[in-house]
Amino acid sequence: LVVVDDVNKHYGDLHVLKDINAVVNRGEVVVVIGPSGSGKSTLCRAINRLETIDSGVISIDGKELPAEGKALAKLRADVGMVFQSFNLFAHKTVLENVTLGPIKVRGMSRKDAETKAMELLERVGVANQAKKLPAQLSGGQQQRVAIARALAMNPKVILLDEPTSALDPEMINEVLEAMIDLANDGMTMVVVTHEMGFARKAADRVIFMADGEIIEEATPEQFFTNPQSSRAKDFLSKLI
Ligand code: ATP
Ligand code: MG
Repeated sequence: LVVVDDVNKHYGDLHVLKDINAVVNRGEVVVVIGPSGSGKSTLCRAINRLETIDSGVISIDGKELPAEGKALAKLRADVGMVFQSFNLFAHKTVLENVTLGPIKVRGMSRKDAETKAMELLERVGVANQAKKLPAQLSGGQQQRVAIARALAMNPKVILLDEPTSALDPEMINEVLEAMIDLANDGMTMVVVTHEMGFARKAADRVIFMADGEIIEEATPEQFFTNPQSSRAKDFLSKLI
């Protein structure tokens, strides 16, 4: 579904993505882990064309990402994105946050968009917050709204970049549980996270990055019990 083929990116002299090759199959959950600065966010952003790439090809469902214009907006709608900082529209209610994209980009009627939004908010456990503004919600609730908003577009794949790292500890689990539900429902997901419990439970595959390179790719079982590279061993030994 997502194919990243020989992708390179530089920020000035810094080579942040080095010959990245990766495939995410339909229904698969791929967890990307690695030290800070290894290029995980850059890769996510490149998949969504929030970042340009210097060489290589990224395609979604067989279509190469267009650089701009209507075609890009359309393809980007197929790729849901959830960030560390929830990025909700502050002056819109929870319900409006979730219906805006489907109405504007997918051309859905307000009524249909609202019905669907309420279903999604129900699914992530925040339907009772629909009329509130984001600032009136806890971090964990806001992040679940962000997930519902991404899902409202009916994306083919959803990218989550450290969705729990800005949360207080007691709110992390509610978001991880919503993500595990999604994974169990067969959603195709790419998740950058330091939550190894989630990786063990939900990932089909783990990609370990360091210094802009994919160093290892394995099942969680293989990766956590028997990492191959010294970089991965070192990284894992520093986790609690
Ligand atoms: P973290 O775990 O801290 O989120 P990461 O793996 O997501 O790290 P990236 O954010 O992808 O890392 O950054 C990769 C490298 O690119 C880092 O060295 C970073 O400093 C650099 N970088 C990121 N964005 C920019 C930018 N807009 N301009 C210049 N350098 C950047
Ligand atoms: Mg990052």
